[in-house]
Amino acid sequence: MNPVRRVALALVFLTTLLFAQGPTRFHPGFNLFSKDQDMQLGKESAEQVRKQMVIVKDPFLNQYVNEVGKRLVSSQEAQASGFPFTFEVVADSSINAFALPGGPMFIHTGLLKAVDNEAQLAGVMGHEMSHVILRHGTNQASKAQLIQLPAALASQMGGENGSMLGKLTQLGVGLGANSVLLKFSRTAESQADLTGSHLMAEGGYDPKEMARFFQKLSEQAGAGGNGLQFLSDHPNPNNRQHAIEQEAQRLPHKTYGYQTGDFQHMKQVVAGIKEPPPPKPKEQAPQQ
Ligand code: ZN
Repeated sequence: MNPVRRVALALVFLTTLLFAQGPTRFHPGFNLFSKDQDMQLGKESAEQVRKQMVIVKDPFLNQYVNEVGKRLVSSQEAQASGFPFTFEVVADSSINAFALPGGPMFIHTGLLKAVDNEAQLAGVMGHEMSHVILRHGTNQASKAQLIQLPAALASQMGGENGSMLGKLTQLGVGLGANSVLLKFSRTAESQADLTGSHLMAEGGYDPKEMARFFQKLSEQAGAGGNGLQFLSDHPNPNNRQHAIEQEAQRLPHKTYGYQTGDFQHMKQVVAGIKEPPPPKPKEQAPQQ
């Protein structure tokens, strides 16, 4: 066999192998919380967020993020999780979004302003949903070796009333900056990237757009731009984009091109929303 043919055959073999492996599946790790407790904690934390941040009530914007969210929720992994995802918009100029245990997600207007297309928004939303599906927040709290955590959780299960968030806050698991519930390890971030790419693909969005958006943010951050917030909340190993692109190769061949058709209108509406001034630099969490 001539060398060119041999290389060609090897490539075909490797590609087949890659597809045969299929998507990379992750499972939630060690967790002292029940899934109901994830949801309870998320519900209470969301109430807290609604008091502390400016929720955007614009009906069109809410309908828009919910429509994109619905596409992602229809995916196999989101359905299997059984979590009730909700999507709200907050007036905050930083490029970010976050999801609380059990499903409540908050999308910053800064993110809506920064994305170049709907698939990029779906990418960040899919990433955040994946933290919920993989139960990263309560997994990290469970691993924090808090002596009193099992007792606090057990008393909740006994039907004792009282705020779960309140109890956890006493143990140091609150919602503040660098909260263990929202500050994820690099491993968790990588898992959320790959799982998020599955959610996107099943919803009809090209997963490579997530990689493109992260690329854009790191370029902006390099130029001293606004992308830094997302990246500091989401540690960015150098091979992040590459890993997402590789995962996209493992997914079943599909034509991507779903769009709500409302992206341009969303851009116009969100451009008219004024965000409160960002906190002074010294109040911000240290950047990494
Ligand atoms: Zn993340």
